[in-house]
Amino acid sequence: MIAVNVAGLLHEAPGATRELRLRDHYAVLGPDLELAGPMDGVLRLQRTNRGVLVRGTVTAPLRRTCARCLEAYVEDVRVAINEEFLPSVDPHNGFPVAIEDGDPTQRIDDHHEIDFGPLLHDELSLTEPIHPLCRPDCPGLCVVCGASLSGGPHRHEADEPDPRLAPLARLLDQRQD
Ligand SMILES: [Zn+2]
Ligand SMILES: [Zn+2]
Repeated sequence: MIAVNVAGLLHEAPGATRELRLRDHYAVLGPDLELAGPMDGVLRLQRTNRGVLVRGTVTAPLRRTCARCLEAYVEDVRVAINEEFLPSVDPHNGFPVAIEDGDPTQRIDDHHEIDFGPLLHDELSLTEPIHPLCRPDCPGLCVVCGASLSGGPHRHEADEPDPRLAPLARLLDQRQD
């Protein structure tokens, strides 16, 4: 959970800012998004007439699975955040602020907290490619045996005998004698 209390900022005049630094920040963002390490970034929170505008960039190492060779790999992604959060309760009188039906804006909760988890989850999820590749020229898996081709081409039984198997072949010959 990456939550920050903005009660103080909501009592300041529009234009007032706070800086939120995410450094070595570990978080669990959801079962579909695995962080291989901590997030880093700086978010600038600015009081607006209506709420709090959050802008900045966040970097995160995401664990992905290559669509060709099925190996896990880590991709460092950077996302831009630019989102206005509106209060659920009026910071001055504590009355609930009406939420219009279908209002897509992000909310500050009734404890004056902004939870960045869902926003970061959504922004980071959008970086997921349709065909994630560990490297652009990943050769994938052998269609015959399913082994990874990343180490180069290899031979099969139907091909010439593998010299590495020669001692085994000799052993089998001896046992048949
Ligand atoms: Zn791959
Ligand atoms: Zn093979």
